[in-house]
Amino acid sequence: MLVDYHVHTLGHGEYVNSLEEVIPFFREASKQGLAHLGIADHTQLAPRRVVSALRQANTYFPEVQLRLGFELDLSRDTQAEIEYALSMPGLDFVIGSVHYIGDWLFNSPALKDEFKKRDLSQVYEQYYSRVLSACRTGLFDIVGHLDLIKLFNPGFPPEGVMHYAEPVLKAIKEAGICVEINTSGLYKPVAEMYPSEEILRRCYDYGIPITFGSDAHTPKEVGRDISLARQLAKRVGYRQLATFSKRTRITVFF
Ligand SMILES: [Zn+2]
Ligand SMILES: [Zn+2]
Repeated sequence: MLVDYHVHTLGHGEYVNSLEEVIPFFREASKQGLAHLGIADHTQLAPRRVVSALRQANTYFPEVQLRLGFELDLSRDTQAEIEYALSMPGLDFVIGSVHYIGDWLFNSPALKDEFKKRDLSQVYEQYYSRVLSACRTGLFDIVGHLDLIKLFNPGFPPEGVMHYAEPVLKAIKEAGICVEINTSGLYKPVAEMYPSEEILRRCYDYGIPITFGSDAHTPKEVGRDISLARQLAKRVGYRQLATFSKRTRITVFF
């Protein structure tokens, strides 16, 4: 079973969720054989979501089950934005992510030189401490692109990544939430999925559930490399994946 729980039908804000726009997302999901299409638009775009268009498009592709969610950014979103998104009816799941250190949008290609100006250990510390606090909020079901800070391949801090990631995995376990295998990292300079196999193996040791996401911002990216994510998960030992309905986790074999 293949699912994609990380699809942005509003892109970075360039789309409007018209029926003509959302149909290709479902068409690609169907082509890729996805059982679930999880819509995870950015929280600040929540007022632009057109659920009726998503549901209408879904009727043309009944083999795909629509799941409604949002991607929160716990390093940026205002309380009002979070409350607005989380109060929308029919929400199936919520992803929690960190894209900012202070006002630095560290995953922006335009700002990647900032990595050279900063101490890498400090950057890792700042990033993972934000993810850690995010996991303790209890606001979301899935940790988004857990080790995103690696995307421009800045190298590794001398103390190792697990020095920072391990406490986060403990917090994830305690919070009872899941981690996505996000395939979009394959198309970034680091050229690997989030999280790394090393971190994923520790997730497995902790018994942390996983799900899959492409982080598609266009229809053609829907379901991209989810079969590779499944291969990685199987290699690590996983046999089950987390799906979501009305904020309840449902575990299935894949
Ligand atoms: Zn993200
Ligand atoms: Zn995303």
